[in-house]
Amino acid sequence: MVRVAVIDRETCKPNKCQKECISFCPVNLTGGKAIEINPDTKKPIIYEEVCIGCNICVRKCPFKAISIVNLPEEFSKNVIHRYGVNGFKLHGIFTPRKGQILGLLGKNGTGKTTLLRILSGELRPNLGNVEREITWEEILEYFRGTEVYNYLSQIANKQIKVAHKIQYIDIIPRKIHGTVRELLQKADERGIWRDIVRDLGLEKILDRKLSMLSGGELQKFIIAVVLSKNTNAYFFDEPCSYLDVRERIRVARIIREYTSSNNFVVVVEHDIAILDYISDNVVVLYGEPGVYGIVSKPYSVRTGINNFLRGFLPAENMRIRDEPITYTLTLMREKLLPLKHYLGWSKLLVELDGFKLRVEDGEVREGEVIGIIGPNGIGKTTFVRTLAGEIKPKEGYIEKKQAKLEVSYKPQRISPEYFGEEKTVEELLAMINKEVLHSGSWLHREIVVKFGISKLLDRQISELSGGELQKIAIAATLSKEADIYLLDEPSAYLDVEERLVVAKTIKRLTEMRASAAILVEHDIALLDYISDRLIVFTGDPAVEGYALKPRSLSSAMNIFLEQLGITIRKDPETGRPRINKEDSYLDRLQKRINKYYYIPSPTDKE
Ligand code: ADP
Ligand code: ADP
Ligand code: SF4
Ligand code: SF4
Repeated sequence: MVRVAVIDRETCKPNKCQKECISFCPVNLTGGKAIEINPDTKKPIIYEEVCIGCNICVRKCPFKAISIVNLPEEFSKNVIHRYGVNGFKLHGIFTPRKGQILGLLGKNGTGKTTLLRILSGELRPNLGNVEREITWEEILEYFRGTEVYNYLSQIANKQIKVAHKIQYIDIIPRKIHGTVRELLQKADERGIWRDIVRDLGLEKILDRKLSMLSGGELQKFIIAVVLSKNTNAYFFDEPCSYLDVRERIRVARIIREYTSSNNFVVVVEHDIAILDYISDNVVVLYGEPGVYGIVSKPYSVRTGINNFLRGFLPAENMRIRDEPITYTLTLMREKLLPLKHYLGWSKLLVELDGFKLRVEDGEVREGEVIGIIGPNGIGKTTFVRTLAGEIKPKEGYIEKKQAKLEVSYKPQRISPEYFGEEKTVEELLAMINKEVLHSGSWLHREIVVKFGISKLLDRQISELSGGELQKIAIAATLSKEADIYLLDEPSAYLDVEERLVVAKTIKRLTEMRASAAILVEHDIALLDYISDRLIVFTGDPAVEGYALKPRSLSSAMNIFLEQLGITIRKDPETGRPRINKEDSYLDRLQKRINKYYYIPSPTDKE
């Protein structure tokens, strides 16, 4: 490993500082050149080959724009693409294989989208050369004799056409207008739009305008558009955001059904239970977010995900994380619940215009994180608003310390407009709770430091990416002093590690404040990781909902999975939940013994 300085261009403000990063650099002071101002951008550039990683510029910069990273020795080798001088560098590439679904797993900012754009022909790789355009002839010459050569030459010759579902779907209704039916008919090149509408359950929304769709409906619509293209390759960048568990499984099955042995299929997904279910092989991207990303060799799906969680890639002999990620292997924590009563409710009936919600009696304990699982539009938000006193139930009562409880709420979909007038992240957080900005306070440590958002404080909300916006929305929700925290799908657009960081912070803040957190989540691994207990919602979305009592994780999951007809086991090494293949040995066994959520003993067959 070599240590070098890297600069965050968004954070650097050369017109507001003394540029001491340059004047104090010891290499510069002794006649060398490790860092200098780029006359075009007026911002510093760092010469990685010369910089000695001494940390002096890091300490001198008043805006924390520079940090030191450890780069692998081969940092200058095997560069496939670089975004400008000192820009992000992608090392390595993988070869999509016909008839196999390849899953892509890795931290945000390590180049997954860049890879998909290269492999779909949207971005011509520059092989690290930022000075001039590189031709396809040069690119193919570089790859001659390697596995990916054939694939790339077909991309260069436009023999492979790729249909690509982009990651951030929220921008689509702003750019494309029309009803679902019109747009699907127009997009359909395979004559399958009616079949796919049926299989994805889009019938009810056919005549709805795109701008009126919920997040899940929009996601399914875009997946339908992509699959209806007559191409040889289908790439899906995070197809599961905003979908509930049933829909995630449905989408995973449909991607397989609607693609054939002649197609190249690549899926990026951070819901590891779904990635595991959908993929044949997995490639891991690792590195330093925003600085460089390295593509691993392909692994079989179980091994690849387990290696990623363990933080060690044996084929590369590479440690990618200091600590392994483990999910609990036992369900013992059910017995260790905090016991102090926080709020309770009798059987409830809530009626809103045309929507009815029935709730079984239950209670929440102090410091408890309750997971909610169920489809969208089933009354989850209505339930929490009823608990808080914002909606009066038609029947039943809520028992709580005061008439109205303060709820801090993060809705499922966030747009910059949600935060009102244009402002910076810092201004937003200051409006909610100044303490979160005081370095040294526990709230600052838990939220700003752990979420890694100090670099975003100066940025305008409207400039943030989907993942950054999600983190800020969660930070804003948790910064508020409230009695109940309701977070609807906090995992959307976050990677596996970010999901776990957010989960731990939610848990710790809820315990420290002796409040309650209610978390609507569709990522089963995350629910398993964070929830003390679960409430299952069933019914007919937008018509009638039914909320069961809070139950232990295993008992609630059993009920929920039985309704879905799906069985899940825990991986004996990592404790992560794995969806059993339909009609496999374990699927049949677990259904027979009525254990839909199950920890197999080591003697059970894989
Ligand atoms: P991922 O999909 O894994 O989150 P991306 O491929 O989107 O990663 O991005 C990797 C890095 O490259 C990020 O740090 C991003 O800021 C940078 N990047 C992406 N696109 C561009 C671009 N067009 N110009 C400059 N930098 C970019
Ligand atoms: P979830 O949180 O599970 O997605 P919600 O509780 O937001 O579901 O909504 C459940 C149903 O109640 C939806 O059909 C929604 O349109 C309807 N609904 C929500 N709030 C109101 C309201 N104030 N008036 C009428 N209907 C509502
Ligand atoms: Fe110069 Fe040291 Fe900064 Fe490198 S880390 S640019 S050598 S001050
Ligand atoms: Fe100024 Fe920091 Fe940018 Fe250097 S890196 S020019 S010290 S803001």
